[in-house]
Amino acid sequence: MKIGAHVSVAGGFYRGVENAQKIGAETFQIFGASPRQWQAKIPSVSEIKKYREALKKSGLGPVFIHSAYLVNLASPVSDLRKKSIASLTAHLKIAEALGAFGLIFHVGSSKKMAKEKGIDFIFQGIKEVLKNVKGKSKLILENDAGGGGKVGGLEEIAEIIKKVKSNRIDICFDTAHAFESGMIKEYSSAELKDFFSVWDKKIDLKKIAVIHANDSKTAAASHHDRHANIGEGYIGLSGFKNLSKVPHLKDIPWILEVPGFDGNGPDKKNIDILKKITK
Ligand SMILES: [Zn+2]
Repeated sequence: MKIGAHVSVAGGFYRGVENAQKIGAETFQIFGASPRQWQAKIPSVSEIKKYREALKKSGLGPVFIHSAYLVNLASPVSDLRKKSIASLTAHLKIAEALGAFGLIFHVGSSKKMAKEKGIDFIFQGIKEVLKNVKGKSKLILENDAGGGGKVGGLEEIAEIIKKVKSNRIDICFDTAHAFESGMIKEYSSAELKDFFSVWDKKIDLKKIAVIHANDSKTAAASHHDRHANIGEGYIGLSGFKNLSKVPHLKDIPWILEVPGFDGNGPDKKNIDILKKITK
């Protein structure tokens, strides 16, 4: 199991490699562009070269790109759906240019509109983005904390994956979101065994390409998305230890998106804790 973290690329994409190395990450995630803007600029040839050289030298990877927060393929507002498709298209091009494994994005929210309609919009949007960008990088759906018309539950993700029928679509399983949405209530061995065997039947466990390993500051089924450092939240050390024993999940990258013990984002201490308990 490779353990890594979301890292900053302020100052250039190659800085992501340096920042990952600094905290002992073996794999990492970065933003492809500013997460609070629709615009996403394709990096220049020289920037790509500098990044790829640094990455190769480091031996780190796989690398994941995280989409902008604004993206919502399930939006009832057609203009927002169009902007979301354009943003994901640009980010997937960046992922291709950087040779990243894939682009992670949140499944989305259909707000007050019927969820079925939202799922159909997500399906249409994914099809369009995949058509716009040919290549190897995958689109990776991330489960949500739920509430507010959010679509990212197990049944819904399964439905989308089945409809899209592409080997360029994968899943990112966020531990905090699964807990906050009420999908998983206590991360006990027995509950995880049951949960993932159902998942395996509905979707195929192998579709999960990456774990977002985050503890949760809020209680189970809170629908409140607040990440905590590993061991400082409701999932706790034993929860992560139990999760690391689930077949397949122990073989894929685990990426931290935690506040950090100094409040500066994912740090060496969180990585060391995860490495220790999942050994
Ligand atoms: Zn996440």
